[in-house]
Amino acid sequence: MLPLFPGSADAAGQPATLGVLGGGQLGRMFVHAAQRLGYFTAVLEPDPQSPAGLVSHHHIQTAYDDPAGLAQLAQLCQAITTEFENVPAQALQTLALTRPVAPGAAVVGIAQNRIEEKAHFTACADVSGVGCAPYAVIEMPAQLQAVQDGRADLLPGILKTARMGYDGKGQVRVRTAAELAAAWAELGRGACVLEKMLSLTAECSVLVARGWDGQVVSFAPQRNVHVDGILAVTHAYEGNMPPALATRARDAAVSIAQHLGYVGVLCVEFFVVDDGSAHGGLVVNEMAPRPHNSGHYTLDACDASQFDLQVHALAGLPLPQPRQHSPAIMLNLLGEVWFDASGQRREPDWLAVLRLPGTHLHLYGKTQARAGRKMGHLTITGPDVVSVKTAARRAADVLGLPGLDVS
Ligand code: ATP
Ligand code: MG
Repeated sequence: MLPLFPGSADAAGQPATLGVLGGGQLGRMFVHAAQRLGYFTAVLEPDPQSPAGLVSHHHIQTAYDDPAGLAQLAQLCQAITTEFENVPAQALQTLALTRPVAPGAAVVGIAQNRIEEKAHFTACADVSGVGCAPYAVIEMPAQLQAVQDGRADLLPGILKTARMGYDGKGQVRVRTAAELAAAWAELGRGACVLEKMLSLTAECSVLVARGWDGQVVSFAPQRNVHVDGILAVTHAYEGNMPPALATRARDAAVSIAQHLGYVGVLCVEFFVVDDGSAHGGLVVNEMAPRPHNSGHYTLDACDASQFDLQVHALAGLPLPQPRQHSPAIMLNLLGEVWFDASGQRREPDWLAVLRLPGTHLHLYGKTQARAGRKMGHLTITGPDVVSVKTAARRAADVLGLPGLDVS
């Protein structure tokens, strides 16, 4: 029964426990937030050394769709969430038979499929005021031909698999109809969307939290810099983007969450494109049904983090409107940071990083550094934007990321 009071116990003495499906770093930071409030936690994750499993009271080590594992999770927990996008929606459905689950299987299912996701964005466009990039669904050879015959405007474009894409994986950039056909074959001839390649002036994202009772709070948009399709830097401070665009993005994200009847933290990603208008146009890219990498700065720069809000939303507690108290820049720490220019393994110079003012280091407990693997992040806060940018520049240089755009 919600609300689930933190620190309480049932008649049998079992403590109030929140569950999470998936054991990655998002789960780890959710567990930290839940435990700080006094909840016990349970993580279902097959990897014995997962970031979240390592810090949780309970770690159920089974596959995500294992019936016995799911039954144990439901038995231990009074409410359950998920931390990664490609969790089987069926598992959430099974859990929802006996426990409150947020976000729900239906909305996670929409976010897992770019075709359904774009259909949702299009359906809300009248209210949200923001549409998605021009696109076509590619599921059969005739649709390839149709692009060639009547949708040449979509080229050059990006072919994206409808399902299981993340961090730029499952995507191929194509310039011609011939390249499109080859890319579709390369991606396995499954369901895909071809999206027009837009000329981006910036990217941003908005985090919204919505409760079971429909209460909504949100963070101001953060501006994101991607390198090779992976988030590299998040800029979170006033003036990070034109105020009129920021307001539109925030309003659009709230209406997208409301239209879904969403419960929990939702991240909506946007493109800013040069459409000839004074501030540029806004295009919705995709949504993540969970806290998001671009919201990690909220841990150190806000009085309630995205993970606090996920805990509150799941447990049926009031949602505080978060207030950002410091400007912040977040640098993602990918596996590359653990290797020097000649490919030799090295320990990053944490002492030099931590000597810089306002640095907050978060490592996820992963022992194997690999290129592109998210190992941790560094948030830099300060009294003003100039000092944050100065410290971020120095930190990037110390970490061997000299080309990174932190300006
Ligand atoms: P993630 O889930 O990690 O956010 P993803 O694999 O789902 O990433 P997208 O968000 O679709 O991928 O794309 C990754 C990046 O590629 C975007 O942030 C953007 O920089 C670039 N990109 C994607 N689609 C387009 C487009 N239509 N036009 C221009 N750039 C694009
Ligand atoms: Mg994305």
